[in-house]
Amino acid sequence: MNKLARLDRRHVWHPFTQMRDWMRREPVVIVSGRGAELRDVHGRTFLDANSSIWTNLHGHNHPGINAAIRRQLSKIAHSSALGLANEPASLLAAGLLRAANKIGDGSLEDAGRRRQAAALQNRRLEKVFYSDDGSTAVEAALKMAYQTVRRERGGRARPKFVSMQGAYHGDTVGAVSLGHIDLFHGAYGGLLFKSDAIMPPYCYRCPFNRAKPGRDDARNWRKCNWECVGQAARKFSAQKKRGNPYAAFVYEPGMQGAAGMIPQPPGWLKQVADMAREHGTLLIADEVMTGFGRCGGGVRGSLFASHREHVQPDFLCLAKGMTGGYLPMAATLTTRRIFDAFLGDYDEFKTFFHGHSYTGNQLGAAASLASLEILASHPSARARQTLEMNLREALEPLWLLPNVGDIRRTGLAAGIELVKDWRTREPFDLRRRAGIRVCEALARRGVLTRPIGNVIVIMPPYCTTAAQVGKMITALGDAIREVLGR
Ligand SMILES: *Cc1c(COP(=O)(O)O)cnc(C)c1O
Repeated sequence: MNKLARLDRRHVWHPFTQMRDWMRREPVVIVSGRGAELRDVHGRTFLDANSSIWTNLHGHNHPGINAAIRRQLSKIAHSSALGLANEPASLLAAGLLRAANKIGDGSLEDAGRRRQAAALQNRRLEKVFYSDDGSTAVEAALKMAYQTVRRERGGRARPKFVSMQGAYHGDTVGAVSLGHIDLFHGAYGGLLFKSDAIMPPYCYRCPFNRAKPGRDDARNWRKCNWECVGQAARKFSAQKKRGNPYAAFVYEPGMQGAAGMIPQPPGWLKQVADMAREHGTLLIADEVMTGFGRCGGGVRGSLFASHREHVQPDFLCLAKGMTGGYLPMAATLTTRRIFDAFLGDYDEFKTFFHGHSYTGNQLGAAASLASLEILASHPSARARQTLEMNLREALEPLWLLPNVGDIRRTGLAAGIELVKDWRTREPFDLRRRAGIRVCEALARRGVLTRPIGNVIVIMPPYCTTAAQVGKMITALGDAIREVLGR
């Protein structure tokens, strides 16, 4: 076994990994990458079909981002944001806010859309709080919302949060409390605070969807009366009647990622977000996965999934793709209203008591700035549009496989749900590890991704070529046939 692999097995504890299984085989040790390709110690190459766990945007070893980091490195790598400002973090804050307040596509035609745009402008995001990861971006929003609402309600209330069934917002204790994944709650239940959940519009497995399974994205063949929205309405009303409306509604716009790649039918988010607002509830959008163009959109369109539904949240949580997938850095964007709630005389102690050692890190900020610049360029917008088209076409033949129940794609992120038979939608018992085994078979074919239960994630870097997309999906079809085929 390779020396590095041996050292890993001896000393490294991997995230979300049953280490007993891990230690049974030689791990893949990555030594380099270029574009959508990764190379290991043995010289084998793999396609990075999940963008290194949803972080990479423009490909590995991107000359523009490399150069930006080198330029910054020759000046300084890090100085503290406690008591000090710095060059790239200031520039990046302005850049992020510019991108996050660019809601329309610049071609607002009818009066209705102009009105909508005007309403959105009143909720401008004006402040950026930096942290390091998706979890901490959500954690900061959660604490800001809690304190703001508590003060507004006279300091006595204990404001509650509502989020989505199956939601994943990260692994810090606050972020886990907002999540609703039973597996994690079993492990940490005693450490967490309680939050409520509303049902996500998981059309494929929705108990209210009366349609028979079809050979198309379940959002397109569903037959329902938006019962999920009705349920959410009852939840918000009941909480308001108790005299303590929810402090905030926390959600992933467009598509829930770690919940199992669950996309929202058009109109869902707008309805539920409007409802939350009517009940005096703040909106926390977790765009850790969906942000920076992952959910599609052209050069003039917004980079954020929230805006596809014309919703501007009070908090926009960003991480993963922010640095182009280079460095851990995150941001929580918020409004003047929230910011102002923390202003006061020193001895009122209204300060936001929260921060991390690497807040506002210069290397991360320089990489993020370079990534924003790439995203705003025409070649990048064209690449994203082409990739979306290529993905759509490449995924189509997978519908022929009886073990493919649902293929759901939002922009440049797709989930393929494996079932025993598409006609019955019967799921595989998780203990059969269908998703894991299919991904192992994929890795043998030179394509790397990770499953979420029985759902295979395909989320390639934006630079992935048509041939590479073709290879990823062909390999996936072969892997499904090999592992599950009769
Ligand atoms: C990954 C993810 C997080 C957590 O981010 P980390 O950087 O892993 O802490 C939070 N929310 C969403 C939607 C995510 O996909």
